Amino acid sequence: MTGLSPTEIGIVEHLRRRQADMAAQVVDWAQVNSGSRNLAGLEQMRQHIAARLTEIADTVATVAPEPAETLDEAGRTVALAHGANLLARKRVACARRMILTGHMDTVFPPDHPFQICRLIEDDRLNGPGTADMKGGLLVMIEALAALEAANAIPDFGWDVVVNADEEVSSLGSAALLRETARRCQTGMTFEPSVTVDGTLASARRGSGNFTAALTGRSAHAGRNPLDGRNAVVTAADLAVRLDALKHEIEGLSVNVARLSGGGANNVVPDRALLSWNMRPVDLAGQQVAEQAIARIIAQVSADHGVTIALAGRFARPPKPFDAKHQALFGLVRETGADLGLAIDWQPSGGVCDGNNIAAQNVAVVDTMGVRGGAIHTDEEFMILSSLSERAALAAITMLRIAQGRLDHALGSAPDMAGVAHD
Ligand SMILES: [Zn+2]
Repeated sequence: MTGLSPTEIGIVEHLRRRQADMAAQVVDWAQVNSGSRNLAGLEQMRQHIAARLTEIADTVATVAPEPAETLDEAGRTVALAHGANLLARKRVACARRMILTGHMDTVFPPDHPFQICRLIEDDRLNGPGTADMKGGLLVMIEALAALEAANAIPDFGWDVVVNADEEVSSLGSAALLRETARRCQTGMTFEPSVTVDGTLASARRGSGNFTAALTGRSAHAGRNPLDGRNAVVTAADLAVRLDALKHEIEGLSVNVARLSGGGANNVVPDRALLSWNMRPVDLAGQQVAEQAIARIIAQVSADHGVTIALAGRFARPPKPFDAKHQALFGLVRETGADLGLAIDWQPSGGVCDGNNIAAQNVAVVDTMGVRGGAIHTDEEFMILSSLSERAALAAITMLRIAQGRLDHALGSAPDMAGVAHD
C-alpha cells in the first residue's frame, strides 16, 4: 500500500478486519431467495438491508415501486408487480454528493434448483446472487460504514438506492434512480466486475424490451380464408422487418425473442404476440430505432389489415465513456494502484442501473462490486476475499472524490447541482 494517507490506511485495515463477517453475511443473504417476482423474499431482503443501512444513514425510507405494465396474449394491459425499494440518505444538506446503488433481486425464482451456497475452492463461493449482487451490496454498505466510522467525509453527502427489480429492467425503480441521481455529481453501482480479475465495464450499449400484441380477424381456413386477417403471419412479417434494422442502423443489435399465437390448423389466427430486444450504441441510434419501430408497425399494420399495440421502451439509455467517465475511472485506477490492485476496463454489451444514472449526467462506475463470474447461471461464484478488497477500493475512491479530486473534471458542485438534466 503505497501512496495512502494515514486515514486511508486506517480505513483499509478496518475493512480487512471486517472480511470474515462479510463472508458470513453474504452466505446468509444469498440463501434468502429474492427472485425479481418473489415479493415475499424481496421483502425479507429489504428488511436485512434496511437494518444495515439504518446503522449508518441519517434517513432510511422504503419507496413503493412505480406502476409498470405489459401486454398479455390477448393484447390486454396487465400490471407488473415489483418489490419495494430503499432510499438511504446521509448529510442531506450537502450539495456535493454521490449516489450508490445496488439491487436486491436475482434472476433465480423460488422454484429454481439453485438456492444454496457452497465453497468450491478456498476463496471461491458458489451461490445464487453471490456476485450479482448480494456481495456487491455488502461491499457498498461496508465501504460506507468504514468511511463513517472514521468520520472521513464530514462535508460530503451520499444517497443509497437499493432496488428490487433491476433484473427485470428497473421499471418500478427508474423514477427513484433518476430523481436521486439528479441530486448527485458522481455515482457507484455495485454490479460484479466484468471478469474475475476485476475488470470494470466502461461504455455500455442501451437496451429496450418491447412486446407487440397483434389483433387480426379469425375465419375458416377453407370456407372463407380471405375474410381472415392472419395475426401470426403479420407477426412473422413484423419480426423479419424489425430484424433487418440491425443492417440499417449502425451498431444496433436486434434479438427477436418470442412469437406466440394461433391455434387449430383450420382457423385463421386472430391473435399473436411478438417480443424483442434492441441494443443501440448511442442515443442517436436509439432515436433512429424508436422512429423505425413506429414506422414499421404502421406499415405492417396497413399491409395486413391487423391492429398492432406496442408496449415497452428503451428503459436503459446508452452509457458513453465520455471525458467525465474517463476522469472517474482514472481515479479508480490510481486508487487501485495505491492498494496494489491493477484496474482495467472494457466496453460491455450488458446493461444495468449505471445506464440510467449516467443518463442524468452523472459519472458512474457501475462494476464496483465483487469479483466473480458465471452470473445468471447455477455456476455463479464470487471471490470471497474481493469483499474487503473492493470495499477498500470503493471507500478510498469515494474519500478522494469527497476531498475534491474530481471537482475539476466534473465542474464545481453548486453549478452541477443546479443544472437541469433534461
Ligand atoms: Zn446485477
